[in-house]
Amino acid sequence: MATRAAAAPWTVPVRWFLEGLDRLLFPLPVHCLACGREAPGQAAFPGGICPACLSAWRLEVAQCPSWPAPWGRVRPVGVYHGALRELIHRFKYGGERWLGHPLGELMAGVGLVTLRRPDLLVPVPLAAGRYRQRGFNQAEELARVVGRRWRVPVVNALGRRRAAKQQAGLGRAARWENLRGAFVPLMDLRGATITVIDDVFTTGATLANCTVALLQAGAVRVDGLVLATVPGDGF
Ligand SMILES: [Zn+2]
Repeated sequence: MATRAAAAPWTVPVRWFLEGLDRLLFPLPVHCLACGREAPGQAAFPGGICPACLSAWRLEVAQCPSWPAPWGRVRPVGVYHGALRELIHRFKYGGERWLGHPLGELMAGVGLVTLRRPDLLVPVPLAAGRYRQRGFNQAEELARVVGRRWRVPVVNALGRRRAAKQQAGLGRAARWENLRGAFVPLMDLRGATITVIDDVFTTGATLANCTVALLQAGAVRVDGLVLATVPGDGF
């Protein structure tokens, strides 16, 4: 993977323009999406979540056992319950696709201080049937927001080999078995450092199997950035 050249000076106004456009197209709500508190001065909270809610989420994550991660690091924004779980449900199943923007902003903020900046962001691919049903891949939506914020390209570098059963409802061992070999690299990733983006980290089966595929394609480091981790069921 070639190292990125420093940004040319002429790109600066373009970037400002794009960031301004971004805020215009996706204005963040002025009320905290979790507790409803109003942002002071009508300036939206970063990621749509007030500092009190966000630090409570971060505290819960800090109390989770850390994951011995064969792929690098996995960093969640919060634990999968309460308001965060509700927001993820509204985003994935409730037709509120706009929530991908604030939720992605939250991931970008957390990842910025907990992970090293990668060469590429790779969203976990959705099974084809699920994609048709939902109309979008939630991991890709989140990755696009993180990529814009970090200025890191988003690449759909993974495909799914076969229709695995839906993970929800399967036990821990079954989840691992169900996904073994399910992801395939679609391109040469020699030398690249990668952060995989997903919404929920349950047993680690998805991220682990994605990582195996990315390492096979030549990636040298793979981290994970997710919205939420399921308590007590970590990897
Ligand atoms: Zn709040």
